[in-house]
Amino acid sequence: MKTVCRFAASMSRLALTGNAAARRRCFSSTSAAQATWGFIGLGRMGYPMAKNLRAKLPKEDTLFIQDVNKDAMDAFAAEISETATGKVELAATPRQVAENAETIITALPNPAIVKSVYEFMITPASLTKGQISQPRFFIDASTIDIITSREVSESITSSGQGTFVDAPMSGGVVGAAAGTLTFMIGSPSNSVDRATEALLLMGRKVLHLGEQGAGLAGKLANNYLLALNNVATAEAMNMGIKWGLDPKALAGMINISTGRCWPSEVNNPVPGVIPTSPASRGYEGGFGVALANKDLKLAIKAAEEAGLKLPMGKTAADLYDAVEKDVSCKGKDFSVVYRYLGGKE
Ligand code: NAD
Repeated sequence: MKTVCRFAASMSRLALTGNAAARRRCFSSTSAAQATWGFIGLGRMGYPMAKNLRAKLPKEDTLFIQDVNKDAMDAFAAEISETATGKVELAATPRQVAENAETIITALPNPAIVKSVYEFMITPASLTKGQISQPRFFIDASTIDIITSREVSESITSSGQGTFVDAPMSGGVVGAAAGTLTFMIGSPSNSVDRATEALLLMGRKVLHLGEQGAGLAGKLANNYLLALNNVATAEAMNMGIKWGLDPKALAGMINISTGRCWPSEVNNPVPGVIPTSPASRGYEGGFGVALANKDLKLAIKAAEEAGLKLPMGKTAADLYDAVEKDVSCKGKDFSVVYRYLGGKE
C-alpha cells in the first residue's frame, strides 16, 4: 500500500465536530484520535462520494481506497494531495482495505462484482483476529438485487466478521458531487445510527426502510416506476407534439395535471422544454440508459422471484434494450427514449 499524504493530528476538523465526532469515535478501535475508513469503487458515483467523505472526516483519520482501475486511484490520490484534505492510502486489493479499515463503503457496478469483492474482503474469515479486532462495518451503496445483497450480508454475519448494511442511493452524479445524495438503507435497528452518521458525510438524507435488504427493495421499486414514467412521458410528449401542440405548453399543462411526474417536470425528454435537462444538452450526462435498464431488470427479476405479475415491465425492458443498441441513443441519458421514438427535436 502507498501512503499518499499525512497531516498532523492537531489540524482542525472539517465537518465532524463536537458530539458527532465524539459519537463516531466510540466505534473506532485504533485510537481515540483516529479512525480508519475504506472506499471501494471510485467510479462516477464513488469517486465524488469518497472525495466528500475524505473532506468531511477529521484529517487524522485514514481513508483506504481501492479500484481495479489504477488510474482512478492515482487521480484520487493526486487530487487529495493537492487539496490537502487528509490521509489516503492506496490498497492493492479489497482484502487490504478490509484488513485496515473499520468502516468500509462500496459503490460497485453490478451484483457479481459486489459478491466477488465482498468474498475477497472476508476470506479467510480472520479479519477480527488481525490488527483491528473489532467487527467491520460494511455499507454497500451499489444498486444490486436483494438476494445477492442478503447472501453477502449472511456470509459476513455468519462468519462473525461484521455488519452489512445495504444503502442504495439516489441523486445521481450531480448529487454525489454536491454531497446531497439520499440513501435508502436496509439495516438492523442497532446499526442505523452508525450507518446514518457515515452516510451523511456523503449525502443529505438517510431513510431507514427496514431490515437488511429493505433499502434495495425500496430503491428497485422506485426505479421501476421511474423507468416506466420515463417511457410514458416520452410517448405522451411525442403524441401531443405530433398533434400540433407546443412542447412547453404541453409540458406546462401536464405538470399541473395528473400526468405530472419527475420525467415530465424535471427531466423532460423534449429538448428546450426544461433548459437544465439532459435533453436540452444533447441528452448528455444524467442517468444513463444502460443504468436505467439495469435497475429495471433487477426489479423485474426480484418481482419474478416473489411471484409478482409485471405486465408493463417486460415491454419496457425490451424497449430499453433497443434504445441501448441504437447508435444515436447509446450512452445517453435515459430520456433519449424520446429520440428513439422519433420525437421532434
Ligand atoms: P461506475 O461504473 O462509474 O463505477 C464503478 C467503479 O467500480 C469503477 O471505477 C470500476 O473500475 C470499479 N470496479 C469494478 N469492478 C471492481 C472490482 N472488482 N474491484 C474494485 N473496483 C471495481 O458506476 P457508478 O455510476 O459509479 O455506479 C455505482 C453504483 O451506484 C451502481 O450500482 C449504480 O447502479 C449505482 N448508482 C448509480 C447512479 C448514477 O447516476 N451513476 C445513481 C444511483 C446509483
